Parts: sequence; C-alpha cells; structure tokens
Amino acid sequence: MTHHLGGRAAIAVVLAAVAGFVGWTRCDAQPGKPAAEAFGSGRVNAISIDTVRAMGYLKQLCALGPRVSGSAGMGKQQELIEEHFKKLGATVTWQKFEARQRSRQAPVKMANIIVSFQPQAERRVILCTHYDTRPIADQEPDRRKWTEPFVSANDGTSGVALFMELGHHLKDMKLNVGVDLVFFDGEEYIFDPRPGADKYFFGSEHFAEQYQKNRPKHRYVAGVLFDLFAGANPKFAYEKNSLFLAGSVTQEIWATAKELNEPMFEARLGVEVLDDHLALNRVGIPTTDIIDLDYPHWHRLSDTPENVSGETMARVSRVVVTWLGRVK
Ligand SMILES: [Zn+2]
Repeated sequence: MTHHLGGRAAIAVVLAAVAGFVGWTRCDAQPGKPAAEAFGSGRVNAISIDTVRAMGYLKQLCALGPRVSGSAGMGKQQELIEEHFKKLGATVTWQKFEARQRSRQAPVKMANIIVSFQPQAERRVILCTHYDTRPIADQEPDRRKWTEPFVSANDGTSGVALFMELGHHLKDMKLNVGVDLVFFDGEEYIFDPRPGADKYFFGSEHFAEQYQKNRPKHRYVAGVLFDLFAGANPKFAYEKNSLFLAGSVTQEIWATAKELNEPMFEARLGVEVLDDHLALNRVGIPTTDIIDLDYPHWHRLSDTPENVSGETMARVSRVVVTWLGRVK
C-alpha cells in the first residue's frame, strides 16, 4: 500500500473521477434505500472464527522470517499455503510470472496464488491480500534498521492468516457465488522508497491483465482487499478510490457493519490509497479496500504478531462474511 505519490496519485484521482460516476449512478438508482437492502436479504452468516487458530497461523508465517518476493522465505510460505488449502479440499492455482524492479538488475520470479471454493460457480467474489513482505522497514527513523529482518505481521501477513482460518469455514458455507481467495505477490517489492522510483503492485496488475486477456468463463462480481486491517482497535473510513470505483460494494459492506453494530467501519470519507484494488477496478471487478492507515507499526520492525489482534480479525471477517452471504 502506498499513498501520497505525487504523479501517480494524480492519475488515480482522474481514474476515480471517471469510473466513480458509474458507481454513484448505480447507488443513486435506489434513493433512500440502504445499500444492504439493495443487494440481498437480512441473512446473517453467523460465523465466528477461531481467533487462537488464526493467530497461530500468523505466528507460523512470521516464524518463516521475511517473505520478500522471490526469496526463500516466500518459497516456504507458498508451500505452506498450497498444502493448507489442498488439505481443506480447495482448488489451488499458481499464476507464475517474472518481474523486474526498476532499481534491481535481475528479474525475479513471482506468483499469485488463487484458492477457489466452489470452482464451478461462474459468478465469483474475490477476497484478496498481498502476501509479500517489504524488503525494507523504511518507516524506522534510524536508517541502519531498515535492512534488519522485517516480518511485517499486519502488512501482508494478517490477510494470509485470516484466509487460512476462513478456509475452514468457506468450505462448507452455502453461498450464491463461488469464492476465490487471491494472494498477490510483489505488492511492495520496494528497495528504493522515493516517490515514483520503484514500482508497486506487480501481482495484482498481472492478475488483472490475465483476467482481461483470457476472458475466463467465470465473472468476478465483487472484490474485497484486506490490507493492514488487523491491528488493535482499527478504524476503517471509506478509502476514497474504493468509494469512487466500487461504490456499491463499499457501501454494502459498511452498511452491513452498521447493521451488525460493528463500529470499526466508519461511514466517513478517508484518504486516498493506491493499492492492489486499483488494478482489479480497472478491469471491471469492483473492489473495495479495507485498510487502517493509522496502524502505528506500519513499515517498522515493531510490526510483529503481538501488535496484531485476533479479535479484530474476527470482527472484520464477521462483517465481510455476512456481506458475502448476501451477494447474489
Ligand atoms: Zn506495506
């Protein structure tokens, strides 16, 4: 995730303004109706995740050390993810590709992993997260600490842990849509953090290109991106691009939170974030970003399992899974 990127941010704003018009039109078509009513019944999927097990997965992933794209740690994580979801009976697909970072000499092997439940369903929802960790902890004031081992527990790991936990629940859930859990590689394979220097979002951009190019039989009707969401007491304002590019999905989820009396989701406009959801929105998959920009350990060595909350994971997933149960 990145924001305040000068030129790139300006591009995102223009895109948001154009595509946002469509999103708002769809919402406005039902004046006065809460978004939750517009997309489904009042059904509540009463899942409560096992927070101890979810935190266990988080610690297991962090114990692998950093999981930078193309590294040995990433390789171990990929094996762990594949084994976990195959055991649960899901279909695991690797989307392999190569990418070269601007500040690096050699290209590196990357892979998105797509875990499908009800793979035959043509209407599908994406729940996604990046699963690479940043090579440098560049929010550390002392520059010498940037290159110390950085496990990035909330940023790029909490989403993986939550999905591993959700796998236990998704496999038996009765839904109107199929679900793909998508793990994006190369979200922040960043060695030069200066604005406009290194490139973000290799994985999500590759995924979006393939979706557009291959025109698969299935259609993604909505997406939810989980990023930096699992700290203690997070606040989720509407992320600006999400609201403009994926207005309906965003409002549906926030309305579901309100209905469930979940105050972490605040119906107010937050700042704009450039993140993996932009590539998906560009190819017509309306995708919202659940992100807490005030996480104090962001890109610091203190982003460790102690600063991630199982309770937050449970509360966020209760909202999203209830929403998921209503998608038609
Ligand atoms: Zn990050």
